[in-house]
Amino acid sequence: MSKRTHLAFALLLSAYLFRFSPQQLLFVPIVLISAMLPDLDLALRGFPLVEHRKTFHNIWFTAAAAYAILHLTGSPLVAELSSIGIISHLLMDSSTKVGVMWFYPLSKWKLSGPLRTGGRADTMIGILSLIGASYFIIF
Ligand SMILES: [Zn+2]
Repeated sequence: MSKRTHLAFALLLSAYLFRFSPQQLLFVPIVLISAMLPDLDLALRGFPLVEHRKTFHNIWFTAAAAYAILHLTGSPLVAELSSIGIISHLLMDSSTKVGVMWFYPLSKWKLSGPLRTGGRADTMIGILSLIGASYFIIF
């Protein structure tokens, strides 16, 4: 999925989860930033063992990031919010043809869907996510 769709879906997810309390809307930036973490493998391409949609697109990275964030911030809530952002990214990438190997490197089993990154459906999901997020934020 494209970056904008990852951000829009993470916004939708967090707007839905945190709509019951205005104070909880402060959690949204944490989820949004975390939703972009798995694509660090694009920035780190060329480093040994770093492969796009493998190295940081699995549950082991999600757990390691949550553990690191827990120890850096001392906040289980921030670690939980970060996990939500990362998982939203993995779910969105799992809807594409390339898919995600959720248990890589232990397993090469892949969850994939029919969508193409940058395609019309990608754009539509992004737009619909923004509309849905607006609804949950306003109402
Ligand atoms: Zn990705």
